[in-house]
Amino acid sequence: MNHSYYNETIESLRHSGNLRRIPADMPADDGSIDLSSNDYLGLGVRTELQEQFMAERDNRMSPMTSSASRLLATRQNDYGDLETFLGRLYDRPALLFNSGYHANTGMISSLAAGKSIIVADKLVHASIIDGIVLSKSEFTRFPHNDFDRLERILAKESPLHERVIVAVESVYSMDGDRADINRLTELKRHYPNVLLYVDEAHGVGVEGPHGLGLSIASSGYGDIDVIVGTFGKAYASSGAFCVTSPSIREYLVNRARSFIFSTAIPPITARWTKFMIEQSLGMDAERTRLAALGNRLHEILSVLPGKNGVASHIQPYITGSAESAVTLSEKLLKEGFKVLPIRTPTVPPGTDRLRISLSAALTADDIESLGNALTRLTSCS
Ligand code: PLP
Repeated sequence: MNHSYYNETIESLRHSGNLRRIPADMPADDGSIDLSSNDYLGLGVRTELQEQFMAERDNRMSPMTSSASRLLATRQNDYGDLETFLGRLYDRPALLFNSGYHANTGMISSLAAGKSIIVADKLVHASIIDGIVLSKSEFTRFPHNDFDRLERILAKESPLHERVIVAVESVYSMDGDRADINRLTELKRHYPNVLLYVDEAHGVGVEGPHGLGLSIASSGYGDIDVIVGTFGKAYASSGAFCVTSPSIREYLVNRARSFIFSTAIPPITARWTKFMIEQSLGMDAERTRLAALGNRLHEILSVLPGKNGVASHIQPYITGSAESAVTLSEKLLKEGFKVLPIRTPTVPPGTDRLRISLSAALTADDIESLGNALTRLTSCS
C-alpha cells in the first residue's frame, strides 16, 4: 500500500512547526523543575504514600487487571466502594469510567440521543468534541465563557429541541480560567430542558471545598445534571467518574458505549484512587500554597511581552506561533525548566503557547527562578 498520504501529512506538520513527538524519558531526579504535569497537589511524587498504600496486604494483593468490562467483571467490590465513597462526597450516585476521554465520549454521545442539540463552550476539551461527533447530533459552540451569547442560543434553540446539552469545563485545561457555574445554573432555571454538563477534570483536587471542584460550591449545585472528574490529574491515579441522577446513571450503564465495551480499570487502581482522594480531602494547606504560587506566577507573566491568562494552577504564556512556543520551551529546558509547548490544533490557531502548570510540591523560589529565566529569554528573543 502506498503511504504517501501519511508521509505528506507528516511533512506538512513538520513544515508548519506542528509535528508532535513523544518526548524522551526525563528522570524525575534530573534536577529540572517540572511545570508540565497535571499533578497539581504534588501527590504523584509522594512515594511514601505509595509505600503506605502497599503496606496494606489487601491493597497489595488486589488484582492488577479486571479481565473484563465492568458489566462482566467478577470482582466488583473495589469499584463499588469507590463509587459509594464518591456518591457520599457529592450526595448523588457516581459511575466510574476508564478515563476522562472515555467518560466524555461515552456520556456526551449517549446523552445526546433523541432530539437533542449540544451547545459547547468553544474551548472544551477534545474528548467532549469527539463525544459530540460520535453523537451525530446537531451542535453549536459559543465563544469562550460568553454566557450572554449562550443565553441567546438557548432562547432560539431551546423551544426547538427536546433537550439542550450545555457542555462546559469548570477550569479550562489550556487557559486555567474558570466558568461561572452560578450563572450557568441560573440560565438553566429559565430553560428547563437544558442538561448541564460540567467537566471538572482540572477542578477536582484543587478547587472548592475539600478540593471537590467548583460545581459543588455553587448555589445551583442541584441544577447541574452531570459532573465529570478525572483521577489522572490532581488525584495522581487514572480513570474518571461522573456524579449524576440515579436515572442518568442507569441510562449510562446501558447506553454509554465506552463504559460497556472497554475493559474496566484494574481493581488495584480503584483502591489506589480512593486512597488518594482520601488523602487529598484534608490538603487545604497544599491548595492554599498552590493558589499563592499561581498568584505570583500571574504577576510575573503579566509584565512579559506575550499574552497571559488569569491567576490559576494552569497558566498560558501565549507566544502566538508554534515555532516560538517550541523554541522558548527548548530554551527553558536547557535552563532546567520543563514547560511544554501547546500548539494548534490543541489550541486555536495563533494562540500557540507554553502551558505552565503548577504543583503544590513547587516552592516560591522555583517560581522566582522560572520568572527570571522567562524574563531573560523573552527580552533577548
Ligand atoms: N477532560 C478534560 C477537560 C481534560 O483536560 C482531559 C485531559 O486529558 C480529559 C477530559 C481526559 O481525561 P483523561 O486524561 O483521564 O482521559
